[in-house]
Order: sequence, then C-alpha cells, then structure tokens
Amino acid sequence: MSKGEARKAVPFPERTEWVWRDGEIIPWDDAHLHVMSHVVHYGSSVFEGIRFYNTPAGPAAFRLSDHMRRFVNSARIYRMDLGMSKEELSDGCREVVNRNGLQEGYIRPVAFRGLGALGLHPGKSPVEKYIVAYPWGQYLGAEALQEGVDVCVSSWNRPAPNTLPSLAKAGGNYVISQLMRFEAEANGYAEAIGLGPDGLVSEGSGQNIFLVDRGVLYTPPLNGTLLHGITRDSILKLAASLGIQAREQSIPREMLYVVDEIFFTGTASELTPVRSVDRIDIGGGGVGPMTQKLQAEYLGIATGERPDRYGWLEPIHQTAGETVL
Ligand code: PMP
Repeated sequence: MSKGEARKAVPFPERTEWVWRDGEIIPWDDAHLHVMSHVVHYGSSVFEGIRFYNTPAGPAAFRLSDHMRRFVNSARIYRMDLGMSKEELSDGCREVVNRNGLQEGYIRPVAFRGLGALGLHPGKSPVEKYIVAYPWGQYLGAEALQEGVDVCVSSWNRPAPNTLPSLAKAGGNYVISQLMRFEAEANGYAEAIGLGPDGLVSEGSGQNIFLVDRGVLYTPPLNGTLLHGITRDSILKLAASLGIQAREQSIPREMLYVVDEIFFTGTASELTPVRSVDRIDIGGGGVGPMTQKLQAEYLGIATGERPDRYGWLEPIHQTAGETVL
C-alpha cells in the first residue's frame, strides 16, 4: 500500500482562501453565521464529505454526484429547501476547489437553518448553504491506512430506527458520534464501533464496518441504524467484481472478536484496517490480505492509478453539464 504514504497528515481544517456561499465565492474570513441561527441551538444542518484526488488526468472528486444526491436527500428528509439542483451544487464544489487552486483534499458542503425564528419549527429561518474545500490527509492518523487502528465497542448505542433518521447525514446525528469518540479516545482507542439498539453491530462514529471470515465479507444491512455509506457501496461493488462473496447480514458483537479481518470504510477513513477490538487482536493482529486487496483496489481507482470501470471519478475541471469525449 503506497497511496496513503504520499499524502501527509495536515491540521483539520486547513484554512483556504475562498468559500462558496449560496452560489457566490466569498473570502474565508467572511463565512460567518449569527449566534441566534437556528442550527446553533437545534443542530438543524445537513452536510456531505467528498474527497478529491490528484489523478494523472487532473484533480477528480470520488463519486461527487452520489454525494450530492445524498446531500439533497438529507435535506429532503428534514424538509429543507436547498433551492438548487444537485448538478448546480456539484458545480459549486468544483468552483470552490478551483478557486482555491487545490489538487487534492476534502470538500464539505453544508446547509443549515439560519437566523429567522428560534422556535423548534424553523418558520422563516432561511436555509443557508456553504461549500468549503481544503487539503486533508488521513483521518485516523498518518499510519492508520498501513498499520490499522485499535478500536473498542462503544457503551453508546447508535440511534434506533425512527429516532434520528440514519439515512440523512444531518449535523444532529453527530452528537452520538461525538460521545463515542470522546469515550474511545479517553480510553486510548482510535475509534469506536457502535451497536444498534438490538445489540448488533451497526457502524463506527463516522465509518461503516466490514468483517472478513474465511474468505467471506460481511457488513451490517441498512437497517435504519447506519448511514448508507458511499464507500460501503463502492466496496460491495468492488467485492462483486473481484469474485469475493459479500453478505449484508446482522453481526453479533462477539463476531468482532473471532473473525480474520475487520476494516472501516468512509470518505474520510477511506479503507482503514482494524487491528484490534477491545484489546483482542483481529486475525494475526496485522492487516489481512482481503483488506489489503480491497484497499489497493479502492485507492487505486480513487487516485486514478487503476482503471475507473465504474465512472466514479468526476473531473474537477469540468462542469456537470459537460460530457467527456
Ligand atoms: N457512517 C457515518 C456515521 C459517517 O459519518 C460516514 C461518513 N460520511 C460513513 C458512515 C461513511 O460514509 P461515506 O462512505 O459515504 O463517506
């Protein structure tokens, strides 16, 4: 594995010059909101996270359209009118990357209810949209992709179905993720695995999870407790094309301790191996062969070094309306 090595860890978020706000480009320092904005009090935001890679053909965002589809859907679940199509929002992402002259990094679109009303019903609070882009290295530390991380099972559960909508990537959902992270880090772990309300494995604080047992790949089903991860979907598609049997099925907690390999998936985490859970080594305690194979394939495609047979890379220097000849 070499792709991760090429990218150094940088502080998060690194300041850039320009920010996109509701279709305009404004200076970073002008991207403010008022303390009485609805979102500050009630967590009424939806957001996305997209990585763009410096491929041999120029910077390209990984599955930008799918992220924008999820962004629009998250807003729809919360009855937020974005007033823009996902194509226009995709162009906004490209524009802010271009204006900042970035080759590789992370894009963070966010929409929230601003200043207007402070009742739980947002009333006339406007929906504000921002897109920020900045350079970013590895989420779980510089060595995570190569060596794996040590994680725990959280004492905090993921939200039950029909409580916080798990298919929406909404700011409010992340209070639970924060509790999971605080607890994990206080106890010396890099990350936490959350169980669902049924006690079955759900997902990490900001990642989906996969297990490998005797050559078969397992991941929890979309049961209303976890985000429909775009990296998760990519790994399921890659597994199918590589002839790896994959099952979306319920995973009891104790299965974490006895399988051969475990890894996290997510835009930020990419494909991060898990080397121990609750101080029990997974497999040999190193990075297993299936994890390595899928990681190499995923990062190979994302960085443009392996053929993009799914059309996942969306060039930054091209607007949504243009076609590639
Ligand atoms: N679960 C949660 C809770 C997340 O925040 C993320 C990151 N967006 C994921 C899973 C992985 O999703 P994706 O692969 O689309 O980044």
